Amino acid sequence: MRIDIITALPGLLESPLNQSIIKRAKEKKAVEIYIHNLRDYATNKYKGIDDYAFGGDAGMVMMIEPIDKAISALKAERPYDEIIYTSPDGIKYNQKEANKLATFHNIIILCGHYKGIDQRVRDHLITKEISIGDYVLSGGELAASIIVDSVVRLIPGVISDETSALTDSFQDNLLAPPVYTRPAEYKGWKVPEVLLSGNFKKIDAWKEQQSIERTKNLRPDLLDE
Ligand code: SAH
Repeated sequence: MRIDIITALPGLLESPLNQSIIKRAKEKKAVEIYIHNLRDYATNKYKGIDDYAFGGDAGMVMMIEPIDKAISALKAERPYDEIIYTSPDGIKYNQKEANKLATFHNIIILCGHYKGIDQRVRDHLITKEISIGDYVLSGGELAASIIVDSVVRLIPGVISDETSALTDSFQDNLLAPPVYTRPAEYKGWKVPEVLLSGNFKKIDAWKEQQSIERTKNLRPDLLDE
């Protein structure tokens, strides 16, 4: 899979996308991630990428031309399955959406800033708009990092234990069961007996029952889906 991210602040993406699982996925060539600095596509002599909003509103708007040039340059090289804009008014991101994105070959993620981007970019160049939740960030980079992280860990071979991502919360509309590690007892707080029993049939049944109970208590809405 190839992910191209277009941003005015590449520095905000460098650390999140260069550690742990994402770093290893890149090393294993399971994913290629390219960060493109929007300023490289600025057309005026001040390298500007934003301008005052028409209509006299306060705040700056990202201009159409540098964004069009950046997206066109990428599209000239290969087809894209989706050109995503991170936006608080997009569809709300969830595991189902991550699963779908993980099946794609090439995606672009455009990060907004300031008051947002010229609406004509959204009308003519963007194929999908994603929000990571009902709150407003100052830029799309953290949202893009969240999308990339959630997608990359689903690519086959990225997480060493193949089944591990499938047993996470939200797959099957259930929350994950609680997990424990050594010591078996700490300050008198004990690990559930069944987990130490070595009886894997019993353990699996316990995990499933815990998953269902947790979901009922914490996220009953998931069971309606
Ligand atoms: N004026 C806009 C908010 C702009 S915030 C509005 O009220 O809708 C600046 C940028 O941050 C946006 O262009 C978007 O790319 C990003 N952003 C902010 N909140 C986000 C969210 N919840 N999900 C995804 N991206 C978000």
